[in-house]
Amino acid sequence: MTYTRFDAVEEAFTHPPIKAVPPAPATSDYYGCNVFNRKNMRKYLSADTRQKVYESIEQGITLQRDVAEQVAAGMKRWAMDMGATHYTHWFQPLTGGTAEKHDSFAEPYGKGESLEEFTGKLLCQQEPDASSFPSGGLRNTFEARGYTAWDPSSPAFVLGDTLCIPTVFISYTGEALDYKTPLLRSETAVAKATEDVLRYFGIENDAVFSYLGWEQEYFLVDASLYALRPDIIMAERTLVGHNSARNQQLEDHYFGCIPSRVLEFMRDLEFSAYKLGIPIKTRHNEVAPNQFEIAPVYEQANLAIDHNLELMALMKTTAEKHGFKVILHEKPFAGINGSGKHCNWSLGTASGIGLMSPGKTDVENLRFLVFMANVLKAVYDNNALLKASVMSASNAHRLGANEAPPAIISCFLGTQVTKAFEELLSKDSVRIEGKSKYNLGIPQVPELLIDNTDRNRTSPFAFTGNRFEFRAVGSSANCSSAVTVLNTIVAHQLKQFKAAVDKRIESGASVTQALLEETKETYRRCQKICFDGNGYSEEWKAEAAKRGLDCETSAPVCYDAYLTKESVGVYRDVGVMSETELRARAEICWEIYSKKVEIEARVLADLTANHILPVATRYESVLLDNVSKMKDIFTEKDEFEQVAAAEIQIIKDIATHCSAARSLAVEMEDECDAILGKDSEREKAVAFHDKITGYLDRIREHVDALEMIVDDEMWPLPKYRELLFIR
Ligand code: ADP
Ligand code: MG
Repeated sequence: MTYTRFDAVEEAFTHPPIKAVPPAPATSDYYGCNVFNRKNMRKYLSADTRQKVYESIEQGITLQRDVAEQVAAGMKRWAMDMGATHYTHWFQPLTGGTAEKHDSFAEPYGKGESLEEFTGKLLCQQEPDASSFPSGGLRNTFEARGYTAWDPSSPAFVLGDTLCIPTVFISYTGEALDYKTPLLRSETAVAKATEDVLRYFGIENDAVFSYLGWEQEYFLVDASLYALRPDIIMAERTLVGHNSARNQQLEDHYFGCIPSRVLEFMRDLEFSAYKLGIPIKTRHNEVAPNQFEIAPVYEQANLAIDHNLELMALMKTTAEKHGFKVILHEKPFAGINGSGKHCNWSLGTASGIGLMSPGKTDVENLRFLVFMANVLKAVYDNNALLKASVMSASNAHRLGANEAPPAIISCFLGTQVTKAFEELLSKDSVRIEGKSKYNLGIPQVPELLIDNTDRNRTSPFAFTGNRFEFRAVGSSANCSSAVTVLNTIVAHQLKQFKAAVDKRIESGASVTQALLEETKETYRRCQKICFDGNGYSEEWKAEAAKRGLDCETSAPVCYDAYLTKESVGVYRDVGVMSETELRARAEICWEIYSKKVEIEARVLADLTANHILPVATRYESVLLDNVSKMKDIFTEKDEFEQVAAAEIQIIKDIATHCSAARSLAVEMEDECDAILGKDSEREKAVAFHDKITGYLDRIREHVDALEMIVDDEMWPLPKYRELLFIR
C-alpha cells in the first residue's frame, strides 16, 4: 500500500497536539548560556587572558600563540561542561548555508586509552578537506587546499554536542573562499573611511561599526505533505501547482492570530535562539498564508550575520521537531508573495552616535546630510553591483517579477529628508556666523523620523528614519553578500568625498563650508537614484532606464557587474577583494545559477513524466471508457453528441495538455544536455536563463491546467489549498 496524498492530508490536519514547550524561565536566566561570552570567559579564563582576548576582539589584534593555548584550554573545559564532545570550525562557504566538519576532542593515544585534547593551534586553524566547495577556479590557480581561521570577533558557541568556532575560509595564498572574509575586510574599510570623515566633526577615537538588523521571512509546510512534493524537496519550491481559490486576497493573515501549532514552534525556536545569544525581538504572520517573520534587535553586522545563519539552521531542526518543514526559498508558491530578508543597515560609533540619524544641532544635521549624501551617491554609482549582490536563481522570482522590490535599485528618502536636500541645493551660500553653533543655515531635519517617515513599501532601498532598509535581499541569502557590497561602496565613496573636501579646504574654504559645498555637489550628482513613487509601475521602468539605472532582470547578466572596470576599481581601492577574487565570485554565482535551474528542469521533467502524465492518462481512459459506454445507451447520433460533448472536450483537453507537456519536457532536457557542453560558466548560466526558465513556465501551465481537470481523488501531489493552510 502506498502513502497517498490523502494519508498525508489526514496526518497534516489531525496532527497530534505538540507537547507544549514548558514555560521558559526569565530570558535573562539562560540568555547566551550556550555562548563563550564574557560571562562564561570570566569563569574559565584568567583575567590576563581575558584582557588579551578583548583586545583582540576590539582592535583586531592577532592572538599570541601562548594566549591562544590558554583560550583553547578554557574553551574546551567550558564546552565539555556544556556536554560537548566535538568541535568544529564553522564557516560560510559560497554555496550558501554553513559548513562544519566535526572532530572529536578525544585523542586516543594507544594502549586503549584516550584523553581530551584541544590546542591553541586547533582553535586558530583547521584544514577542512574542502575540495568540493566552490572556489571559482581559485584553488586550481593557486593551491589545492584552503584553511579556516578563527574570527575572535564572533564568539564560539555550543550547538548540540559540538563546540562551533566561527571562522573565515581562505586559500593558502589568502584569497577569500567564503562570505565572512570579504565582509570583515569591508567592515574595516568602511570604519576607516567613516572615522576619517568624522574627524571634520571633531569626533576621534570613537570606533565605527556597520550595523545590521535582518527581518527573516519564511514559510512553514506540514512535514507529511512536504514528503509528497518532490519539487519542494529537491528545488525548495513548487514547480507545479494551481492557485487555490483562496490565497492571500483577503489579506487576513498579516499580523493575524498565529496558529497555535506555529506558536509552539516559534516559542521553541526563540528558546534555542536566546540560549545562543541571538537577540530575537519580533515574530508575526506575514502577508501570505503560512508565511511568517522573525526579527532580532540589530547588532554589529558580522555578528548579526552569524546569528542569522545560526537561526536558519535552528529553524530547520526546530521545525522538524514540530512536524513542519521550513521553507526559506524566495518564491516557493506561484501567485503568492515571496519571502525576503530586509536588511536594515546603518553606520554608527561605539559611543552610540547613529550616523544615519538626524540630530538636534546644525552640526549634527550637517553630519547627517553628509552621510546620507554619500550613501546615496555610493548606491547611485554602484546600483548594478548592489543588485548583483542579491541576485540568485531563486530571488529572481521576486525581483522584477511584479512583487516586492523591483529589479531596479533606487532610494526612497521620504518628504522630510528630500525637502532638506532641496533646501540645501537652493542655497547659494550658507550663513556662517562666527562662533554661533546653531545658526549655520543648515536645513533642519526633525530629530525623530522613525515614527513619521512615510512608508514606501515598493522601494528596494528605503530610508526609515535612522537606517536604510535594503529590501531586495532574499530570504535564503547570506546577508554578507549585500552588506559587503554596501560597506565597500560606501567606504570608497567616503574616501572620494574626503579627498574633495580636503581640496576645498586647501583652496581656502572653512571646514564647514567645504563640507556643505561638497555635500551639495555629491547629492546633485546622484539625485537620479532617488525615487519616492510606485516602484512597481511600468512608467517607473521606463523612467529608470532614462535615468541610466540598471534595469537588467537576468541574474547571470547581472553578475557581470562584479567584473566591470568600475567595480574592480572600487574593491581594489578599499582593499576588500582583488580582481581574482571577484572573478572567482562571479564564476561561482554563474555555476550555482546553472545548477539550480538545471535541478528544477530535471525535477520538473521527472514530475511530468512519472507523476502527472500517468495519472492524467489514467483519468483520460476512465472518461474514454465512460464515453464509449454511453454510446450503447444513447444510440441516436445527435443525442449522443449532445450528452457526451463536454466529456469529449475534456478528453481532448487532457490529450492536448499531456502531449504538449511531454514534448516540452523532452525538449527541455535535450536543451539542458546541450547547454552543459558549453565552455564557460557564464555562457552556461545565460543559456539556462534564456532557454530553460521559459520551459519551466510553459510546462507548468499545462500541468496546472491538468490539475484543474483531473479527478481530485487521483491527483498525486498535495495541492496549494492543502499546503498553505495550517491548522
Ligand atoms: P519594520 O517596521 O520594518 O518591521 P522593525 O522596527 O521591526 O522594522 O525593525 C527592523 C529591524 O531594524 C530590527 O532588527 C531593528 O533592530 C533594526 N534597526 C533599528 N534601528 C537600526 C539601526 N540604526 N541600524 C540598523 N538596524 C536597525
Ligand atoms: Mg521592515
